[in-house]
Amino acid sequence: MERTLVMIKPDGVERNLIGKVISIFEENGLRVVALKKTRLSKEQAKAFYIVHKERPFYESLTDYMSSGPIVAMVLEGENAIKKVREIMGATDPKEAKEGTIRKLFGIDKEKNTVHGSDSPESANKEIPFFFSEHELIAVD
Ligand code: UDP
Ligand code: MG
Repeated sequence: MERTLVMIKPDGVERNLIGKVISIFEENGLRVVALKKTRLSKEQAKAFYIVHKERPFYESLTDYMSSGPIVAMVLEGENAIKKVREIMGATDPKEAKEGTIRKLFGIDKEKNTVHGSDSPESANKEIPFFFSEHELIAVD
């Protein structure tokens, strides 16, 4: 069993897609072990995406990610990290495969509806960014 950090980004929350997005993960065998709606400050968004600080999209991305509420969750399942990345689809919705969340709902390369940890190392940093140990409720 593996855990990964997922966010529904401001474009997804704004368009009332929280339930639809979570359903797709659940239908693919992932289980919610922690869940919250919150809003990132600009400083928090910059900290979350610190690995991208030299990238040209960092300022715009962190403005966008702090522009409205998000939903953060920890999902658990077999190969959860890779599975979530497959279910999300490519960063650019135009390049995402049919049936993926970003293909279904993504607006553009920035406003692409969901985030998912890209490796165990990322998950180990991103899960504690949002949740303390006692908020992670093991699956059954
Ligand atoms: N992003 C962007 N422009 C780009 C690449 C990425 O605005 O050219 C944004 C997009 O929201 C993406 C996030 O920055 O989800 C993090 O980028 P990354 O390359 O890690 O993509 P992801 O892992 O989310 O697919
Ligand atoms: Mg990434």
